[in-house]
Amino acid sequence: MKMRFCVLMMGLALAHSGCAGDNGNREQTGDRGQTVMTEWGRTDDGTPVHLYTLTNARGAAVSIATWGATVVSLTVPDRTGQPGDVLLGFDTLGPYLQPHPYFGSIVGRYGNRIGGASFTLDGQTYTLAKNNGENSLHGGVRGFDKYVWKAREVPSQDGQALELVHVSPDGDEGFPGTLTATVVYTWTDDNALRIDYTATTDKPTVVNLTNHAYFNLSAGQSETILDHRLELDADRFTPVDAGLIPTGELRPVEGTPFDFRTARRIGDGIDADDEQIRFGGGYDHNFVLNGPAGTLRRAAFVVDPASGRTMEVLTTEPGVQFYSGNFLDGSLTGKGGRTYVKRAGFCLETQHFPDSPNKPDFPSVVLRPGETYRTTTVYRFGTE
Ligand code: BGC
Repeated sequence: MKMRFCVLMMGLALAHSGCAGDNGNREQTGDRGQTVMTEWGRTDDGTPVHLYTLTNARGAAVSIATWGATVVSLTVPDRTGQPGDVLLGFDTLGPYLQPHPYFGSIVGRYGNRIGGASFTLDGQTYTLAKNNGENSLHGGVRGFDKYVWKAREVPSQDGQALELVHVSPDGDEGFPGTLTATVVYTWTDDNALRIDYTATTDKPTVVNLTNHAYFNLSAGQSETILDHRLELDADRFTPVDAGLIPTGELRPVEGTPFDFRTARRIGDGIDADDEQIRFGGGYDHNFVLNGPAGTLRRAAFVVDPASGRTMEVLTTEPGVQFYSGNFLDGSLTGKGGRTYVKRAGFCLETQHFPDSPNKPDFPSVVLRPGETYRTTTVYRFGTE
């Protein structure tokens, strides 16, 4: 049921009210959007998991589960106006509670790998859980994706907003300091999902939060993302060793399969005869974004030529992990009974660089008591 707040809200937020007459699109709906919460199920220990569905003034919707602060679905129109869900994932909570490759999850406390699952901070060495060969990946054995976050709706001038909070205790997965992480998802009236991350700590620690959504802009029409065209605002990337740990080098993309400075079909270079491509089994690399980190600037632009759906990514982060779904192998059955084959989806995980705690020359991921970690990423959808 659509909620009509025009008369009530007119004086409060006219520019963003969504009332008939203020904008061509909203005129059709005369709607400000709404957020609906349902109980989605329970974890094994009986904790309820809620699903929030945020519908914006254009009628486009995002649903977010409190389990892992996971973005479960994101439904936007193609060039003919046909809505489709552009995220890989599951229809029900059950499979999200089982091992899965972080579909839509918030990843923390440290997104991507820390080499040797250890690091030294202020002269003290911390040993982390190893969950990826010798390395720590995505926060360890039980990362932030495997907890029920505390959620509440928050007001926003831009659309519908949901805040999720998770407190990670001192020593969690080997990381020092009690870390309070807050993620605010705002689903704006112009079809952008803005993610504002903040965190504080009571001891010096390292933090690198990201979202691990897998996109396929065809919304189920194409089995893989090989025909999508990608542009990355990155002149350099961080080459890796065979264990996918950065070597420390910032290598120019020029003349390599990693050159996405002008839009290129993802499939074109993905099987290139190139050592870095072999190590990743395709693209699984951090790109060094151009422009000053800390300011919201464009990182990427993706188009699915068949549906016409586009996605622009903006971030304050210094890097983005472009992962082309190389480890998907057809063993997972997802939404609508679809099998997720190799490269069924891609991720653009905005982040600080992998293994930064062991790379003094990379931008710092250290957070100290009294400081606030603060990053923003926007995924904006459109058509062409
Ligand atoms: C990593 C991949 C990994 C995937 C799923 C990506 O961020 O870079 O190597 O397989 O996440 O865990």
